[in-house]
Amino acid sequence: MKFSFVTIFPNLIKPYFEDSILKRAVDNGFVEIDFYNPRDYSKNKHKKVDDTPFGGGAGMVMTPQPLFDCLSDIKSKNEDLHFVFLTPVAKQFNQKDAKRLSKKKHIVFVSGRYEGIDERVVEEFADEVFSIGDFVLTGGELASMVLADSISRCVKGVLGNATSLDEESFEEGLLESPTFTKPQVFNNLSVISEFLKGNHSKIRSLKFALSKAKTKYFRPKMYIEAIFKDIK
Ligand code: SAM
Repeated sequence: MKFSFVTIFPNLIKPYFEDSILKRAVDNGFVEIDFYNPRDYSKNKHKKVDDTPFGGGAGMVMTPQPLFDCLSDIKSKNEDLHFVFLTPVAKQFNQKDAKRLSKKKHIVFVSGRYEGIDERVVEEFADEVFSIGDFVLTGGELASMVLADSISRCVKGVLGNATSLDEESFEEGLLESPTFTKPQVFNNLSVISEFLKGNHSKIRSLKFALSKAKTKYFRPKMYIEAIFKDIK
């Protein structure tokens, strides 16, 4: 899996791949990354990449020329590309998207800055647009790291134990049940006793009940959808 990050601030993203699971994924060749800076493609003598919006309004907008040239350059050098733009004006990214996108060969994440990207660039290049939630960030870099991280986890070989993927939140349309580790008692607080008894079918049904309770409390809409999907 290859990720190309299109950003005027590549240094915000690079360190994320220099530690922990994603560093290992890069070192072991499961994930490859590179960076493109639209500023390098700007024909403006000051390497400007933004201008005032037509129709008025606050702030600046990323101009089409540097991004058009940058994305065209990436297209001319690579095959099987999937262009993903990060923007609040989109469907919210979820775990199903992460799994689906983990099957792509090469994803290009395009990060906006200022008040966003001239819409003509989005229309011309985007295969998909994603938001990471109903809030506004200063730029798309964090959002592209969020997507790259969750997609990477779904790439075969990246996680040491692949079964961890099957037992996570959203897998059955529900949030995960609470988890505990040693010691059994900490600060007078005990682990749920059933979890210690080794009766796996009882533990499974308790976990399922807790999982439903958590989902009902925190994500009532998700819970109703799961119920209608005829969960056992
Ligand atoms: N004016 C835009 C609006 O109201 O929708 C917000 C622009 S935001 C300040 C600058 C950039 O941050 C966007 O172009 C996008 O790339 C990124 N961004 C901000 N919030 C985001 C979110 N919730 N999800 C994904 N990207 C986001």
